[in-house]
Amino acid sequence: MSSNKINILVVDDRVEGIYAVSAVLDSPEYNLVTASSGNAALKHLLQDDFAVILLDVQMPIMNGFEVATIIKTRTLSRDIPIIFMSAINQDEQYVYQGYKAGAVDYLLKPFDPYILRSKVAIFVDIFKKNKLIKEQAKQLYKTEVDKIELESLKSYRYLADSIPQIVFRLVLDGSHQYFNKVWFEYTGFSDDQSLHMNWKNAIHPEDLSRINALLEQSHNKDGLESECRILNKNGHFRWHLVRIQPENTAVKKSWLGTATDIEDQKKMEEGQRFLAKAGEILLSSLDPKIILQSICKLSIPYLSDWTAFDLVNSEGTLKNFVIDHKNPEKREEIQKLHEFFLEDSEGQLITSSVLEAEKTKIFDSNSNAAFKFSETSLVIIPLIANGHKLGTFTYGITASNTHDQFNVQLAEELARRIALSFENSRLYQISQKAIELRNDFLSIASHELNTPITSLKFQLQILQKTLTKENDKVVLVDKFSKSLTSSIKQVDRLINLVQVLLDVSYIQSGKLMLAFEEFDICEVVDEVIERHKELLKQSHCQLELHSPSNVIVVWDRTRTEQIIVNLLTNAIKYAPGKIKIFITKDEAIKIEIADQGKGIPLNKLDFIFQRFERASSNLNISGLGLGLYIVKQIVEGHKGSIEVKSEENKGSCFILTMPQDATVASSFEYVASKRDENIKSV
Ligand code: ADP
Repeated sequence: MSSNKINILVVDDRVEGIYAVSAVLDSPEYNLVTASSGNAALKHLLQDDFAVILLDVQMPIMNGFEVATIIKTRTLSRDIPIIFMSAINQDEQYVYQGYKAGAVDYLLKPFDPYILRSKVAIFVDIFKKNKLIKEQAKQLYKTEVDKIELESLKSYRYLADSIPQIVFRLVLDGSHQYFNKVWFEYTGFSDDQSLHMNWKNAIHPEDLSRINALLEQSHNKDGLESECRILNKNGHFRWHLVRIQPENTAVKKSWLGTATDIEDQKKMEEGQRFLAKAGEILLSSLDPKIILQSICKLSIPYLSDWTAFDLVNSEGTLKNFVIDHKNPEKREEIQKLHEFFLEDSEGQLITSSVLEAEKTKIFDSNSNAAFKFSETSLVIIPLIANGHKLGTFTYGITASNTHDQFNVQLAEELARRIALSFENSRLYQISQKAIELRNDFLSIASHELNTPITSLKFQLQILQKTLTKENDKVVLVDKFSKSLTSSIKQVDRLINLVQVLLDVSYIQSGKLMLAFEEFDICEVVDEVIERHKELLKQSHCQLELHSPSNVIVVWDRTRTEQIIVNLLTNAIKYAPGKIKIFITKDEAIKIEIADQGKGIPLNKLDFIFQRFERASSNLNISGLGLGLYIVKQIVEGHKGSIEVKSEENKGSCFILTMPQDATVASSFEYVASKRDENIKSV
């Protein structure tokens, strides 16, 4: 169907009718479309636009009025004028029905050809004018839309130019490509240099294949991202994160995208990884040489081409300690140059000024200092911690590399951590030495004190016995005997104190020995109580012992006695009154010593087993705060545990739990000794 011709639909079930109309309307301007039924007519109306419909009224199945009614209900066809043609129904009522069904005219057959032609011509004319108006409106709309699109394109470009990232539009054929201002500023490229595929010249050759693959893939997906290096106008590549989104156009392959500079972020991450590795090295050894050698290896070539650590020796002179070069063949050469530099007057001046000012010095390749290392530039960083000038960290890099500020800061941070770690280990060594000295002193002093005190006690005991025999001088004896008994008591206290100090020094140096043997714990507890009968009486204490008989344990007997004595005397000292001791045997042996004293403040309960910790506010009760500490060490040496329960004004209960056979239950290594096979150190 020709698109220039005007469509006219002729509907008649009779061929003669169609012929008659066709003959009248035959014109090159018209395209007569014929239909022999209402249904066929409706089908045509769905496919084409018509200027006018000539509709026969009298048709089988669906008459003209029914067809017209359907035509008028359809949006597509409702405005098409209908001219009814009828031969039979000529009376007024039918004509009226025709108009009601939507007819614009009603022609009676046989019709006057002239009238039919002119009527159709009028509707064709109206149709043409309508079409023209529609086209003009469409054109107007398009112009408006173009204008708006242009405006919005402009604002998109303004927007793209105001974004700190590179924004671009790539088109496969290179037409209508776009790069925002940042691209031109960053690359220094001109329009021409960016056109077509020339932009690829700014991509690092190693990353090009990745970007090409990205452009290919992104047409299948919803946009993708990748990292690549883009050349800046100073000739340096910087890492960018490129995000690409395909445009929705079927005509050309095109992409919209952004590139964000992630160089600093990447460097920062790498720097953090570098420092983390350095941190591991610092913890990996106690030998400074091994540490610094590993740090040299780590920093080459990431930071430098060669690295040296120079330390201040005891005479205050800076001496090379460790040096390494990325090229092993050049190691010796650089070492000689570096040592020469350290001894050379200019080198000395430089390094001492770095240490004095506590500031990094950077020498570029044309400086005199760098010249000494032929063609390299230098960075010298002081190693200082807590005001201690430990030495310098020097590194050199070839002139082709740049001393970028970031790397210098990274090296400074590394130097700070190294210096701090060395200073800490120096302080640790000093404090360890001091602790060793203190322990040695404690041990020696206790030993030295022990000898004269023991001999003093012995002498006093002899004197006491001798005097007691002198029956005739009873008064004198009484006098001396009393003061002798009290002297012996004081000496006993001294012996106890010295023993405590000795025990602490043993524990600190890991030399507290346990000698395991079989014995009856109930018997030992009985003996201890027996020995303290007098003290219990003097302190107005009543003691109850709840114990089965004959509970054989494999423990250190002397140390067990020491535990019981300690807990019992503490109860007498801090909580005189009713004291109960319970011994029970289950899977393990449990000894409980309960008093009804003031109790121990809740906030002190966790501390009283630590060294020098005391909970009592009563200054008249003497003590070093070491007893429970020693008890705990001994108990743990038996793989047992000790805990305390206490309630204000209701008393405290110390609960000791130890395996019946400490040698079986424990995983101790026994230290064989001449004295006893079954000895271990705690
Ligand atoms: P010391 O008796 O020399 O101070 P200990 O290590 O034996 O040291 O005891 C630590 C602290 O625990 C004591 O100073 C005391 O305050 C508290 N303490 C120990 N036993 C008792 C008890 N039975 N009743 C109340 N307080 C106690």
